Amino acid sequence: MSAVHTGQCHCGSVSFTANNLSDIWYCHCKQCQHLTGLYIAAAGVKREDLNIKGDVNWLPISEKSNSGHCKNCGSYMFWNAHDFDTISILAGNLDNTDGLDVKGHIFVAEKGDYYEITDGLPQYESYPPQGTRQTEDHKHN
Ligand SMILES: [Zn+2]
Ligand SMILES: [Zn+2]
Repeated sequence: MSAVHTGQCHCGSVSFTANNLSDIWYCHCKQCQHLTGLYIAAAGVKREDLNIKGDVNWLPISEKSNSGHCKNCGSYMFWNAHDFDTISILAGNLDNTDGLDVKGHIFVAEKGDYYEITDGLPQYESYPPQGTRQTEDHKHN
């Protein structure tokens, strides 16, 4: 059984379909803070399981990664690390998050000191040792 999620940007000119999304993680790294003003919520999808329609503006935000934004309205939609076989989808652009759990917080070592994490979910200084796709992998074992 494969779950399909759909989503779109603020103006609707970029839309996507994703199969087998991983659960959602919050990332508190400095890069996410620069891109959004706060931290992000994102789910991962294998490249071949993501189908994008519309013009995405891919910006190189580091030597290792780029971020994907709607060319028209600027919505931050995707994050892609060249070394990973998954693309992160920003959860705010999903039409719904049916079947997805929120697993925890990553890169809390870089989080801003002007907010507290109070939801009781696990927190990791950088990536969790088991990776961020563990739950999804378990589902399909
Ligand atoms: Zn747009
Ligand atoms: Zn981040």
